[in-house]
Amino acid sequence: MPKLFARPINTKPDIWNKDLLNAEPTAAQREYWEQQYQVKKQERAKWEEDFITTEKRTEIEALAKSYKDEDFTECYLDALYAAHKARQKFTYGVVAATTPFWHSTLFTWLTDSEDGILHDLERDYTFTVPLALPDEGAVNIKFHTKRFGDSPSQLNVRLADKAELVGHLGDVFFRGSIEQTFAGDMTTYLVFVTGKNQQIADTIAAVLFKFLDGHHPKEFAGYLAPSLKCMTCSRPLLDEISKAVGLGATCAKKLGVPHSFAAAETTLQARAQHAQWLQSLTHQGNK
Ligand SMILES: [Zn+2]
Repeated sequence: MPKLFARPINTKPDIWNKDLLNAEPTAAQREYWEQQYQVKKQERAKWEEDFITTEKRTEIEALAKSYKDEDFTECYLDALYAAHKARQKFTYGVVAATTPFWHSTLFTWLTDSEDGILHDLERDYTFTVPLALPDEGAVNIKFHTKRFGDSPSQLNVRLADKAELVGHLGDVFFRGSIEQTFAGDMTTYLVFVTGKNQQIADTIAAVLFKFLDGHHPKEFAGYLAPSLKCMTCSRPLLDEISKAVGLGATCAKKLGVPHSFAAAETTLQARAQHAQWLQSLTHQGNK
């Protein structure tokens, strides 16, 4: 049994816990970790055997091929496994699996280029992304950005691990969250929605998955639902250009996002194209 340490008041943490942090694990600890790891690995293998049919695997591998990503299959399976485990605990709602890919794409759209909306982040933001769903449904996802490190020259911002969501699909109003989780070897994200409507969770997951097809921050706007509120300051949007772009003129200028007739037109075109895909999603049904 390791000793418990109480942190002395007014003592810098690095003085008292350095040895503890740097301590080499004992042989017994290593053995225990290894055992735990093997148990988890077996559980994961058993799940794969029970739930992943040959057809499903072929389907996933075809997707991996189309996205030309070596890690895709493993990431995808990990996401499904995480959802499987989460379903056993989350009994008052539904869970859908996503992969980590949408998160990195959104992050790129928002911050990782001169066109990214949050490119010039000077502080932490709360940022509501209103995503379009089929049949004029929408889901507002509230992200938090967190800065870390001190260097302003480095990209040291990330989206927080949990985002709240609220929205409507058809005549169903829902709320929930998107949360980072870890079940297999890789980090993944799950969509949690209260209530018993699996279709809603699956639809949100499918929309997030579709992010993979977007490569440029400009494409981000196409995924948005028309909004009456500014994405960054939540003030009402009164003119048509602002409603199309999703940002008021002042905020757009502050963020360096085009706020013009042309920008509004491009956004609406991208949105119309995305709406077609959303419609196909309704007709296929979701998996
Ligand atoms: Zn604003």
